[in-house]
Amino acid sequence: MSTPTNLRIPGPTPCPPDVLQAAAGEMINHRGPEFAELLDRLTAGIQPFFGTDQEVLIISASGTGAMEAAIVNTLSPHDKVLCITVGSFGDRFGTIAERYGADVTRSDIEWGDAATPELVAELIQQDDYDALLITHNETSTGVTNPIGDIARAVRAVADPLIIVDAVSSLGSIEMRMDDWGLDAVVTASQKGWLSPPGIAMAALSERGWAAAESSTMPSFYFDLATHKDYADRGQPPWTPALPTLYAMDAAIPLLAAEGPEAIFARHHRFASWTRAAAKSLGLELLAEERYASDTVTAVKVPDGITGPAVSGRLREEHNVVIAGGQGKLAPSIWRIGHLGYLDESEFSACFAALQQALVAEGFSPAEGAVIPGIDA
Ligand SMILES: *Cc1c(COP(=O)(O)O)cnc(C)c1O
Repeated sequence: MSTPTNLRIPGPTPCPPDVLQAAAGEMINHRGPEFAELLDRLTAGIQPFFGTDQEVLIISASGTGAMEAAIVNTLSPHDKVLCITVGSFGDRFGTIAERYGADVTRSDIEWGDAATPELVAELIQQDDYDALLITHNETSTGVTNPIGDIARAVRAVADPLIIVDAVSSLGSIEMRMDDWGLDAVVTASQKGWLSPPGIAMAALSERGWAAAESSTMPSFYFDLATHKDYADRGQPPWTPALPTLYAMDAAIPLLAAEGPEAIFARHHRFASWTRAAAKSLGLELLAEERYASDTVTAVKVPDGITGPAVSGRLREEHNVVIAGGQGKLAPSIWRIGHLGYLDESEFSACFAALQQALVAEGFSPAEGAVIPGIDA
């Protein structure tokens, strides 16, 4: 058997063997009692990571589907929306709202920077905004916005709905939806959940549900009131992605056994190590340390080096897969995912391979560099 690819992209992530095995289970009736039990276990296991007492809805879709659900259920055409964007996923959030007729104003924040509470509080006062769209962890730049502090600063001066894309943070980085007063929070199975893609999760606050009652954006598949009605009877509204749900049913006990605090600490440790290892090779990071993400690191492609040439060598010569940049950062960064199922030897192997690929491409400062040992 060939060795599995060392997949170091920010989702989908490698999954534990038991989780993959669970995904191969036989189909069940999604309108029968076994499904109701499965749904109960999943929602109870997911809820603590959201930091909410609200019901978490399970949607068969990718993360973008849940972003769309958060928008179409809470907003109406012509609503004034402030989209705080620090990268391509933030831009996507604004584009979805625009597509459904919202009046979207986008922040102008450089990619690689974070949104600050002061800036967001200032921007939200510039118009009578109905909603704020914001990304918790911007996967395209490796930046985590200080979402709790931002929400607090916004609430001090205005009262918009706060709608959060937590696709690549939830389950890996702390989220306190209720304490922070967030109105809609979404995530997806293939990021921090040790699971394959196919399932998105969404929760609305009481205000979020109230907004859903008056929202006039069209929705059918993603109508969350329909999802909630069915969930209350132990069913999905539409045929669900059962294999991914089986996988999550095996993954969530692993997450619960480790516990949120230990999981967050583990992600922080691997992130710190990844940044230290990149710097030891003479590489620069895109994000400032204080905003650097615990789930994905963006590394700048050095002058004179072609990003895809290095990632191509990694793939072809070392069986290591890292991500390039997205959008306007496509040629200038690499991104290394460190979320979900993290194995020390895979990280060491990834950086040893990166060192060799850089040297092969003529990046001399990397030669002889000592990559720090991973102390995880
Ligand atoms: C991955 C990701 C998404 C989109 O998820 P898909 O599952 O690809 O639709 C959205 N936002 C962020 C921050 C992400 O990392």
